[in-house]
Amino acid sequence: VKTERQNGRVYLIGAGPGDPELLTLKAVRALGEADVVLIDDLVDRRVLEYAPRARVVPVGKRGGCRSTPQQFIERLMVRLARRGHVVARVKGGDPFVFGRGGEEALVLAAAGIECRVIPGITSGVGVPAALGIPVTHRDLARGVTFVTAHTRDGNGPDWAALARTGTTLVIYMGMQRIGEIAAALGAAGMSATPAAVIERGTTENERSVIGNVANMAGLAAAAGLGSPALIVIGEVVRLARTVESAPPQRLSA
Ligand code: SAH
Repeated sequence: VKTERQNGRVYLIGAGPGDPELLTLKAVRALGEADVVLIDDLVDRRVLEYAPRARVVPVGKRGGCRSTPQQFIERLMVRLARRGHVVARVKGGDPFVFGRGGEEALVLAAAGIECRVIPGITSGVGVPAALGIPVTHRDLARGVTFVTAHTRDGNGPDWAALARTGTTLVIYMGMQRIGEIAAALGAAGMSATPAAVIERGTTENERSVIGNVANMAGLAAAAGLGSPALIVIGEVVRLARTVESAPPQRLSA
């Protein structure tokens, strides 16, 4: 019991964009070791098949109702690890891409708790890929910019500056502001640039619309698309659906 106490630690795990088969082998191994799993609500519950020993604590953090405050989650991780538990903190996508994983790692370090990060496939790469959209392409986009429309201070990014980069823009958490984003990028000369809005990508419930910056907000509204969704903007969107992606599958238990 004593040695177990000394081995409390936290795995910050990225579960990938949605399809549970996009978990990494390392994530599966860490889940198998876990005594407690703290799982975000974007993460498919089927990943828990790999955590047979663990107590499961849902810690939803969706904007709006019934969210678990960040501070509560951080304190809980610290407390559990101090008691000697192996804690798996499971987040959607990659834990360090718009996932507050960086904040959590700092809190754990300050508390002197061992923290191991297990990267995951961020939705900004995996979700477009599932539609056949490569976020870079030698002829169409020399780079990609990941940006959130939702910032702590309430100010959006400098859309005109982003337009000038000529990179593919992948916008996380943008649905509430899609109209504003379209207007700002349109004003920066991008009205005709191809755009895709993809909800719940890589899952059985994936839905998407493809158009351009000028019409993307209207198309998304007409299709009833909402969060969680990504907005992908750039010439690479023209390549959508030119290749088949591997469909999500049920995991065998
Ligand atoms: N750490 C996560 C991002 C968390 S922020 C990652 O690396 O992917 C949450 C935002 O991610 C959502 O608002 C949405 O913009 C995006 N997102 C996450 N999963 C998604 C999915 N399956 N389909 C579309 N967008 C997704």
